Amino acid sequence: MDDMFDVAIVGAGAAGLAAALVLQRAGRSIVVLEARARAGGRAHTFEARGQFPLDAGCGWVHSADQNPLVPLIEAEGLTLEKNGANWGRQSGDHGFSAAEQKEFAEAFEAFDARLAAAAIKDADAPAANYFEPGCRWNGLIDAVSSYYNGAEFDRVSVLDYAAYLDTGVNWRVTSGYGAAVAALAAPIMPRFSCPVTGIDHRRVPVRLATPQGPLEARAVIIAVPTNLLAKERIAFTPSLPDKTEAAAGLPLGTAEKAFFYLEQPEELPIEGHLFGRIDRAATGSYHTRPFGRPYIEAFLGGRNAEDLIRAGEGALSAFALDELSALVGSSFRRRVVPIAETGWGRDPFALGSYSHALPGHSAARAVLAAPVAERLFFAGEATHPSFFSTVHGAWASGIRAAEEALAALPPLGL
Ligand SMILES: Cc1cc2nc3c(=O)[nH]c(=O)nc-3n(C[C@H](O)[C@H](O)[C@H](O)COP(=O)(O)OP(=O)(O)OC[C@H]3O[C@@H](n4cnc5c(N)ncnc54)[C@H](O)[C@@H]3O)c2cc1C
Repeated sequence: MDDMFDVAIVGAGAAGLAAALVLQRAGRSIVVLEARARAGGRAHTFEARGQFPLDAGCGWVHSADQNPLVPLIEAEGLTLEKNGANWGRQSGDHGFSAAEQKEFAEAFEAFDARLAAAAIKDADAPAANYFEPGCRWNGLIDAVSSYYNGAEFDRVSVLDYAAYLDTGVNWRVTSGYGAAVAALAAPIMPRFSCPVTGIDHRRVPVRLATPQGPLEARAVIIAVPTNLLAKERIAFTPSLPDKTEAAAGLPLGTAEKAFFYLEQPEELPIEGHLFGRIDRAATGSYHTRPFGRPYIEAFLGGRNAEDLIRAGEGALSAFALDELSALVGSSFRRRVVPIAETGWGRDPFALGSYSHALPGHSAARAVLAAPVAERLFFAGEATHPSFFSTVHGAWASGIRAAEEALAALPPLGL
């Protein structure tokens, strides 16, 4: 066996990359195995029309006042845009009057308060159980859940929702959040196009199967999305039914983006926001002219996004353009050019966007995060107890898993 390492890391997303940095700095021999031909996973910035960067995955530096990536991004010399998000507002009050916006905000706040109280006193349940029956804002509240959780509230655990730590401070990286993660992880050289298909952990060294041949490691950090673990895309020997079950309880919901270039940007506000509709969950959230750049970022989630992804390429953009034209005017579509749309829900190495716990499964994050026999360690956004579904949660989970692996390894030189 030529390929023998202290630690093999499966997945070069934020979690795997953070783990690799810790282990490399500790002087350990590592290998990072990545199924794609690029690093970053769900953190991915691409260039649009040779003019500006766009984030296909994470874009917002959530909980920026507590986000462990902020000092690293600043030390890297990258610029953070600290103007907050306008998600709750409707620019120009298009189809959503100021009074209605206030009413909606109050209804959401009351709903959130009911969930917080329920998390203290009630058994776990679907968050949708706490909707006020007949409230006209339930559809729009569910739309927001579809962006926030990737799923409507009937599929979201009350206890898990309450465990999420959101300080409400949201920043952005002007050159892209995905690009920032790539810059931080520049010292790591993964093996690309190298999906791990099997992990035999009956003895140390653990043996990993890949299309590029087998390799061995004293410890393995598994940092792949839950939907792949739930579908057993990596065959563990012996099998790990607790992990499969925990992963199945933490599915990646669906949240997708479509980007449109604006030929007449001045007709929409800089850093503006529009909901497509206010009377149903199946609607988009539209961010106009982010950073003052001439584009719109459409954000669609939940069942609506799942259906559009199933309908095939172009369906997401067509839906968004229909909604925008209904708001801004039918001639609007002649003044925009679709740039790109995501397809995380059909991406074979993600199968979704970010994790939420199903009702009754709030304990699954701790089960998934627990090491196995001091040789298998689990990282990834879904394993973080309070920053799950985010890139900073993924990063922190990678550091935690690397420290667990270091504690289990024999000292250097032995
Ligand atoms: C549309 C969208 C918007 C988002 N917005 C935000 C946001 O604004 N702010 C925020 O903080 N977060 C956001 N997120 C979530 C954030 O991007 C993720 O939580 C985070 O990037 C996950 O990192 P990870 O390392 O856990 O997983 P991933 O990034 O998915 O990394 C896992 C890696 O494992 C690889 N892999 C899979 N199977 C195998 C295998 N068998 N062998 C080897 N490699 C394998 C994958 O290719 C991938 O590179 C968003 C995500 C999406 C999709």
